[in-house]
Amino acid sequence: MLYQRSSQLFAEAEQVIPGGVNSPVRAFKAVGGTPIFIKEAKGPYIYDEDGNKLIDYINSWGPMILGHAYEPVVNAVIERAKKGTSFGTPTALETEIAALAVSMVPNIDKIRFVNSGTEACMSAIRLARGCTKRDKIIKFAGCYHGHSDSFLIQAGSGAVTFGTPNSPGVTQGTAKDTLLATYNDLKNVADLFAANKNEIAAIIIEPVAGNMGCVPPAEGFLEGLRQLCDENGTLLIFDEVMTGFRLAKGGAQELFNIKADIVAFGKVIGGGLPVGAFAARNEIMNYLAPLGPVYQAGTLSGNPLAMAAGLEMLKALNNDTDVFKRLEEKTAYLEAGIRKQLDGANVVYTINRRGSMISVHFDATPVTDFKSAANGDNETFKKFFHGLLKEGVYIAPSAYETWFITDALTYEDLDATIAAIGRVAQTL
Ligand SMILES: *Cc1c(COP(=O)(O)O)cnc(C)c1O
Repeated sequence: MLYQRSSQLFAEAEQVIPGGVNSPVRAFKAVGGTPIFIKEAKGPYIYDEDGNKLIDYINSWGPMILGHAYEPVVNAVIERAKKGTSFGTPTALETEIAALAVSMVPNIDKIRFVNSGTEACMSAIRLARGCTKRDKIIKFAGCYHGHSDSFLIQAGSGAVTFGTPNSPGVTQGTAKDTLLATYNDLKNVADLFAANKNEIAAIIIEPVAGNMGCVPPAEGFLEGLRQLCDENGTLLIFDEVMTGFRLAKGGAQELFNIKADIVAFGKVIGGGLPVGAFAARNEIMNYLAPLGPVYQAGTLSGNPLAMAAGLEMLKALNNDTDVFKRLEEKTAYLEAGIRKQLDGANVVYTINRRGSMISVHFDATPVTDFKSAANGDNETFKKFFHGLLKEGVYIAPSAYETWFITDALTYEDLDATIAAIGRVAQTL
């Protein structure tokens, strides 16, 4: 495959955009080479500016759970756009998507829409602090909750890919209110509570971590967090930006049967347009302005194009009772195929998977937290990534990302992917 035009476009982009990209992980820094510029996409495939066709395992980092250019979403956006793209007033559409989301997700009464997952998590934390009148939060190393200041303390995703877990520009004052814990280590969390009695407003967690590769919660871990929160008057925030409307209709709360106090959404909920949301029961949501004292706002929040896209996406997922089962089955099939190929080539690896989130780590030890995720052999990952790219298979350009499986993938696509992995495995 040739990437002449992509390389040229990247050189032009670098002149006017920092690093040539509007979000760091797109830059291929972790794997080397220059990023591919995408021209269009349909179903499970993306087509780049050089005319190459790739099977896509990034899917815009999650939103395209039903495939690219999913027609009901595209048509809804086109129809809405003709009627005006933003009014800055309430619209009936906002109530419609809010009601649908509230009906799909357990344990929430009200939902507020914002423009990104970052905003959703940032607002969830402010709400938790406002409700509890406490300052500190607990976050887990390797979990990513967007790029707002409180969360850029050993964050996952691009923030680890670039080795700047503690970003300059985040003040000491902010950092001191973020307590860091180890994923899957309840004792560590209990110790933090003991050392910060009556000071912790919230625990925020990815209920299945997806920003240090995929790291599922150990048996009893989420239940233990729920219990610690209850004992300490602390709110439990599930960051379901990745897991929401992906692992189940009601997300991780439904899958694990655990109630979170506040839930953050993004990615799938916008159907590919910039949308985030946060939700909770009435007693918490009523703290928000204009009902309560906790301020939160947005000129383009609840934007009609974004709401139209999100509504069609949620409707499709709500009406198709088998979609999450199909996603699970396809991803399990892929996992089995990858294992067979890597075993056949004597490659040392660990695969983590939960539902349609999966990642391959090139290390034999179990990957259960940020430290074990960071043990993976990055040189092997680079070869794996570029080998797959040559084969026309596009996975995330970093070992710290999960693969996102779309229902648009056919078993033929999966077989082609597995065969490609087999050929690449021989070169590792
Ligand atoms: C992607 C992601 C975010 C940030 O969402 P943006 O829309 O990129 O701001 C937050 N939390 C999790 C778990 C994510 O995966």
